[in-house]
This record gives sequence, C-alpha cells and structure tokens, in this order.
Amino acid sequence: MRALLKQYFGYDEFRPMQKEIIQSTLQKKDSLVIMPTGGGKSLCYQIPALKFEGITLVISPLISLMKDQVDNLKANGINAEYINSSLSQEEIINIKNRIKKNEIKILYIAPERFALEEFKIFLTTIQISLIAIDEAHCISEWGHDFRPEYRNLKPLRTIFPELPIIALTATATEKVRIDILKQLSLRDPKIFISSFDRKNLNLIVLEKKKAMERIIKMLKEYKEESAIIYCFSRKDSENIAEKLRHRGFNALPYHAGLDNETRKKNQDLFIKDKVNIIVATIAFGMGINKPDVRLIIHHTFPKTLEGYYQEIGRAGRDGLLSDCILFYSRGDKRKHEFFIDKIEDEITQNNAKSKLRQVMNYCEDGSCRRRRILKYFGEDFLEDNCGACDSCLKLLEPSGINQKTLIPKESEKQEKYNPELFEKLRILRKQVANQRNVPPFIIFGDVSLREMARCLPSNDEEFLNIKGVGQQKLEDFGDLFLKTIKTYLKEKSIDNNHNLGDSDEEESSETDYHKRLQEIKQKFSNAYEHWKEEDDVRLKVLNSENKTISEIAQILKRQPSAIISRLRKF
Ligand code: ADP
Ligand code: MG
Ligand code: ZN
Repeated sequence: MRALLKQYFGYDEFRPMQKEIIQSTLQKKDSLVIMPTGGGKSLCYQIPALKFEGITLVISPLISLMKDQVDNLKANGINAEYINSSLSQEEIINIKNRIKKNEIKILYIAPERFALEEFKIFLTTIQISLIAIDEAHCISEWGHDFRPEYRNLKPLRTIFPELPIIALTATATEKVRIDILKQLSLRDPKIFISSFDRKNLNLIVLEKKKAMERIIKMLKEYKEESAIIYCFSRKDSENIAEKLRHRGFNALPYHAGLDNETRKKNQDLFIKDKVNIIVATIAFGMGINKPDVRLIIHHTFPKTLEGYYQEIGRAGRDGLLSDCILFYSRGDKRKHEFFIDKIEDEITQNNAKSKLRQVMNYCEDGSCRRRRILKYFGEDFLEDNCGACDSCLKLLEPSGINQKTLIPKESEKQEKYNPELFEKLRILRKQVANQRNVPPFIIFGDVSLREMARCLPSNDEEFLNIKGVGQQKLEDFGDLFLKTIKTYLKEKSIDNNHNLGDSDEEESSETDYHKRLQEIKQKFSNAYEHWKEEDDVRLKVLNSENKTISEIAQILKRQPSAIISRLRKF
C-alpha cells in the first residue's frame, strides 16, 4: 500500500485512519467513513481500486467535482474516467468499450445513472470490485444537502451482494450516520470516525469595527493567494467585490442572484487561479474542492456553527496553514433575526434561534475556540492551548499580538521555503495548467511547490522525493520544473556573487548558492519569511528601545540588511 501511495500519489505516509480503512476495504468489508473535509477520504477507495482486479465505481454528486477528480487521477497516471450527462453518447460508448477491455481502473458516475435500466444491465456485464459512495450524506433527508437522486442507490446492496461498499462523508451528526447505514443497507459495516479537528486552520474571531479597512490589510498580506469572503446578502457580495476591485484586488462576487453562466464563470476563474478572491453568500462552496484556499473571512457571522465549520472547512484542504477570520458584532445579529422572525413553523423558528445563540456564545466566549467548536460537535479537545486560535495565541504571546490586526504568525512547524522561487514555480504551474486546460492544483499542489522551493531538487531522484510527485508527474513535469529551479539558482548566484569573481561553471555557482542559502538560514532562520504586521510592531518597539541593528537582527532572526531596509521604509 505504501508503494502505491508513493508511486501514484507521491506521498510517504498515510494520514490518520487511511491505512485502517484501506485494509478493511481490501478485506471486502463494508464501511462508513466519517472524516472532515480535507481529511483525505478519496485515497481510502483509490488505493484499494489500484490493488483490486476489476473496476471501482465511485458515486459522486457533482459533475464539476467529477471532472477535477478524474483529471487529478489521470495526472497521477491512473486510468480513470467519468460518465455523466456532460458527455456525448459517442464518448460514453467509447468509455464503456474501454471498461470492457479492462482499461479503466476507476469510474466516476452520478447517482442519476442508476435510474437507467440499460446502465444497470451494463454494470452486470463487467467486473466491478468496489463501490464507493462519496458525499454519502446526500442520501439522507436529515443531511444539509439531501439529493433525491441518491435514493437511486438504495438497491445497490441487493444488486451487488458480493461487493464491498464504502460510504464517505464529512457530515458528523448521529441522525445522518444512522440514516446512511440504513438507506444503503450496509452489511456489518465498520464505522471509521476521525477527529474533526483541523489543526492547520487558525480560528480567529475579531470585533467588527472598520471591517473593510482591515479586510483590505489582510488581503494585502496574502497577495495572490486564494481567499473567500463570506457575507450576508447578495448586495453585500456585489458591493464588497466592487470595493475590492477599486482597490486593485482581483475579486468577483458569487451568489444565487447571478445567472448560472456568470456563477459558473466566476467559480471557474477562481478554481483556475485567474481570480484569487471570491466574495460570496452561502451559495458558494459545494463543489469547491480547491485545496489551496489560504484565507476565509466571514464579513458577517454565520447563522449556525454547522454552517460555519462547513464554510471554513474549505480552507487549507492541502493541510497547509490557513486563516479563518470571523468578524463579529451584535448588530449583525439583528440581520439574522429579521429572517428568523419570518419563519412560520414555531419549532423550526426556535431551532434557528437556538443555533444563532450558539454562534454568539462561541464568538463572545473568551476560551479556546477550537475546544469550544469541537465540543459542539461532541468531541473533547484535550490540549490546554491549541496555539492556533485568537484566545490561545493571546495567552502565548501577551505582548506581541495586537488584537485588532491579528493575523496569526506561521507556526514554527511550517517549513521555510524561498518565496521568490515559489512565485516563479506558481507562474510555471499556471502556464502548464492553462495549456492542459485543468486547474493549477491538478499539476502540483502548493505543498509540492513549497517543498521544491525549500529542497531545491536538482535531479530526478530528488524531484521524486518531493511530496506529491509520483512517477507520472516526474515524467510529465520533472524536466520543466527542474529547469526552472536550476535557472533561478543560476540567476541568483550570479547576482549574489558578482563580487566574488567569475563563476561561469554551472555546477559550482549552484552549490555556492546552496551553501550561502544554508548559511544565512542557519544564522537567521526567519530570513526568507514574509514580513507580517506583528513583525513590524516588534521591530518598531525594538527600535524605540534603542537596540542596535545587529541586536534587532538577532532577536528577529533576520538579516541586518533586511532590518535596515525595513526601518528605512518606515
Ligand atoms: P476529502 O475528500 O476528505 O475532503 P481529499 O481526499 O480531497 O479530502 O484530500 C484532501 C487533500 O489531502 C488532497 O490534496 C490530497 O492529495 C491530500 N492527501 C490525502 N492523503 C494524503 C496523504 N496520505 N499524505 C499527504 N496528502 C494527502
Ligand atoms: Mg472528498
Ligand atoms: Zn485555542
């Protein structure tokens, strides 16, 4: 299993529970997998699919998601296809023929297919080894996203009595779980429930004052990175997007009032990294599996904690640190109440009121946000300090953080990389993605690019060591990315070493650069980090204490030259 993980996906380790789930599936047991968004559910059926003889059927609710998943698998050298209404009859026949010839390992289909008798008959003529039902909560009326088409899946267990079925969802409620088991008639199922803690998400609540000004400040920190701003109404969505565009940001609205075409276009531009900010109502999200959303801002607080957790779940699916910032005010409560008061059914109304109160309690409580929200979902968080919410960070650094402009600093764990090279690799990734007409994250995730910009691989072997680089990606993109890294290093070392005499030999200038970089990093471990606002605050304080440049450099772990240029800027 580890060999498959490395060869096809380029990863060295399984995430929590993946191994157990894969093992159980390989033993042909039914299972229900409950894991938060970004937990890594797909691998739980994709690895068994590679191992099994025949084909694995994956049921997935959204056509757009299917395409991304299949593109992703193909980029990793796995024969995957989908059959849905976006294909022509001819294309479908072609895929069916390839299935018959055993040329396809994983087939994605929409639940609607199962309503077609002819398709069901086709399925009985091929060798299926596993059925995976993704977003399985869609089968339950108790879920937040019931889809009647999922009810077509009910007879699966009877039609394929021998096959293992694996159902996967990120929805945690007991009622939905039981319903999934019942509706799918899973046979002696194993139930895997992983923690809902998303360690890489920083949970920040801020008092809503001068929100727009502060949002702009934050977005500047994030430069080109992808961000979603959730707001209350269609009008807010339009207005805020417009204001941001005026300030030079690349922002578009998304809400149910836009026509289908515009919505689709805006979403597509976001997914393909052509627009980095989406200002949205709650209508935005389903079908977004973009792994590199680094910032989610709630301009208005959401009306339930379930909704909140789902919305921030879209941040950092790739496991890299991401910020979730919620602006809270009592004034916004009235906006929600206005709509809740209109609910006619008393029970529903009371329910909505109580949910709203829970959100307010969450915002007004000064204790650890993470502990509090996990508790809401029935999970105990046992650590004293999560180190990644506004309450806990304040305790860690009482002097350093200014509550009003707080953006958590990158944790020490996060590995250092060269941001300039990272930018270059991002541009290259986008070009390649454009050529292939796929989203950039299909080519490489940020995890891979950051690691390239840190490890500076110089040959195939080193490139293969990068997380997310499997055999296929090495073959397809290795040369291109290695060349870009090499060129960058060469440029830099010529630039950096022009006083050191000629170094026209490629090899030596490259190692020079390596060495220099290493030396600088050893002496000043923050040398290649972005300047954050709180660094500036610390710098100003140190400067006002009349510390010398070299003292400040030691304290901030940055090069003296960087300190000087920053002070000059002030
Ligand atoms: P989910 O369906 O649970 O929301 P995905 O299956 O889409 O999550 O996986 C989320 C991200 O995690 C993907 O970018 C995937 O490549 C990555 N991932 C999954 N398993 C691993 C692993 N073992 N090591 C590193 N990254 C992983
Ligand atoms: Mg998924
Ligand atoms: Zn905390």
